[in-house]
Amino acid sequence: MIKTDDASAEEVSTTITLTIDGREIETRDGATVLEAALASGIIIPTLCHDPDLRPYGACRLCVVEIEGMRGLVPSCTTLAREGMIIQTNTANVKKSRRITMELIVANHPADCLTCAKNQDCRLQHFASYLGVDQEHCDRLRKSTQVLPVDRRHPAFDFDPNKCILCAKCVRACHEVTCAAVIDLSYRGYDAKISTFGDKSWIEANCRSCGDCVDRCPTGALAPKNEMKGDRSVKTVCPYCGVGCSLYLGIRDNQIVNIKGDKKSPVNKGGLCVKGRFGFDFVKHPERLTRPLIRKKDVGRDVKIDRSNYRDFFREATWEEALELVADNLAACKEKEGPDSIGVLSSAKFTNEENYVVQKFARAVIGTNNIDHCARL
Ligand code: SF4
Ligand code: SF4
Ligand code: SF4
Repeated sequence: MIKTDDASAEEVSTTITLTIDGREIETRDGATVLEAALASGIIIPTLCHDPDLRPYGACRLCVVEIEGMRGLVPSCTTLAREGMIIQTNTANVKKSRRITMELIVANHPADCLTCAKNQDCRLQHFASYLGVDQEHCDRLRKSTQVLPVDRRHPAFDFDPNKCILCAKCVRACHEVTCAAVIDLSYRGYDAKISTFGDKSWIEANCRSCGDCVDRCPTGALAPKNEMKGDRSVKTVCPYCGVGCSLYLGIRDNQIVNIKGDKKSPVNKGGLCVKGRFGFDFVKHPERLTRPLIRKKDVGRDVKIDRSNYRDFFREATWEEALELVADNLAACKEKEGPDSIGVLSSAKFTNEENYVVQKFARAVIGTNNIDHCARL
């Protein structure tokens, strides 16, 4: 008997037993047939299923035969029941999946080589698994409609021609991000993903979290400035104290993409706009990588801005810079008293680091002038 991962979880109180493709499988009560099959290593193709989202039953690729039920049923929306006998690979199932995939592929552009998701596309993956490509769809009338690509969002593009209407983006925006910026609009052949009033996503209050982009199984939603990396490095987002875990895609020693770590208990793969798209600063030519100290002969009246600051500052070591700051703080305290000094802490710090900063202000400097940038 196969025990699925789900069934071994501690919180599971009851389990049921069913048979899939002749194998007896134990799974948690409440799991769908698809979840039970996937957890026991049985492959069922699907384009709209996502373990983090509610079952939707849009793509119809996951159909199976269940003894006692008429016809084919979608496994993603069918609850597993005690004693069920399920077949996932009969001639009928294979024929249905193939026809469904042919209809999807016939209505999809055939430019995989120029698509940002090439080799990372679930549609491409399952079409190949089912042996379907554009040439196999010759007997079908192909789509002639070419819709404009929406490039108004600064971080990603939306190409409705590549959209298969799986609604993963919509469900992610409603169920995970809770922003409800996009939805399925229009009907039938005109159905598409859009914002209210078809405004640009930014105008529609999109939070730019990119969760919809990350979950899109095709190249319909694709990041603007990303490339494929040749290796990935696991790290923690430097922007705030939440500490989301992520993977940096690296190519030629440069960061070229970022993916949330789905196994992280902190963020479960989710990221905000800064963590997902804000990695340009790492290679920005004006990024400060060493401390700068104002040159001695530069008076306080000199106007310094981004264009000329390098003329008036010199690079220093961290030891020299920290010593200078410590000396100046001590001199200030001596001359004007501790309340002449204020300390501003940062949202980039962890709770523990912020605790240490307020301790430094109160116990070392002797002032209660302590605040935090997140309050401003
Ligand atoms: S980026 Fe985030 S907020 Fe904007 S549409 Fe996508 S999921 Fe919704
Ligand atoms: S944009 Fe992507 S995720 Fe959204 S419905 Fe289309 S294919 Fe699915
Ligand atoms: S900035 Fe965003 S992605 Fe980064 S740790 Fe904070 S919440 Fe997570």
